Amino acid sequence: MSENRADTANTMIKKAYAKINLGLDVVRRREDGYHEVRMIMQTVDLYDTLTFERTGRPGITVITDKKELPGDENNLVYKAARLMYDTYGIQEGVCIRLAKNIPMAAGMAGGSADAAAVFHGISEMFSLNLSQEELCGLGVRIGADIPYCIQGGTALAEGIGEKIQALPAMPDCFVLIAKPDIDVSTKFVYENLQAGSLSRHPDIDGMRTAVEKGDLYGITDRMENVLETVTARKYPVIDCIKELMKERGAVNALMSGSGPSVFGIYDTEEKAADAYRLFKEENMAGQLFLTKPVNPGSK
Ligand code: ATP
Repeated sequence: MSENRADTANTMIKKAYAKINLGLDVVRRREDGYHEVRMIMQTVDLYDTLTFERTGRPGITVITDKKELPGDENNLVYKAARLMYDTYGIQEGVCIRLAKNIPMAAGMAGGSADAAAVFHGISEMFSLNLSQEELCGLGVRIGADIPYCIQGGTALAEGIGEKIQALPAMPDCFVLIAKPDIDVSTKFVYENLQAGSLSRHPDIDGMRTAVEKGDLYGITDRMENVLETVTARKYPVIDCIKELMKERGAVNALMSGSGPSVFGIYDTEEKAADAYRLFKEENMAGQLFLTKPVNPGSK
């Protein structure tokens, strides 16, 4: 989900929020190679910032603040803008500046969130008045997680991740996110998942009921991610971080998406802040964020 921070006639600023997967199940591998999933998703208050500016001349320019992420045609920001321009025949050019804060290749859907912010931003900037369904229809053409990022908040995602059912906001809590210094390719993880022979599956329906009841511990009791069978097996640091988070007051901890980011859920700010300080002191993870769930659309 993305939201405006400031808006003038010629510029617009949008936040692109990261997500965590409170539960992630893979139901089966389809014949076309895609995996059918069931996931409970939650946006967190950790975001990239995109600034849109009308240029008055044709073309799309994307500028990022990370040299390892060029603003070329492979950038999801560029891809989303290109799709909007080609679909709606937009003539006037735009320059999009991306300030990257969400860790990359981390299981937090940062690229998809950026693309979602572009769909919202271009639609608003050029008064296209597109519905959420129309934006999601475009988004899924670039990435299966994009429709969820267009909607944001708490949701059940099914199909290849593109069938979204909004859920009530999860109860207040604090989320510590630790991204170890390893890059994980989502493609590698899914290719190495033995989807047909998983020994257990997360209780996604039970978690959904717990979300609907506003039962934080019912949610945390059911936190499970089948992709840990690939990523955590390959990178033992993931289990180390999970265990440490739990030792340091987390109600539960889990890898997000295909990893390697790990998040811990804390029921008090004090416990979360203590854990953040200890992780920082011991330099346990390359990147560390103390954040909260956020449901931007329902504010
Ligand atoms: P997911 O949780 O959806 O699997 P992720 O968090 O693992 O995503 P991302 O950071 O979204 O991974 O991006 C994965 C790859 O996509 C990056 O390694 C990068 O090469 C490419 N990419 C293209 N555009 C972007 C962008 N705007 N932000 C981040 N990555 C991008």
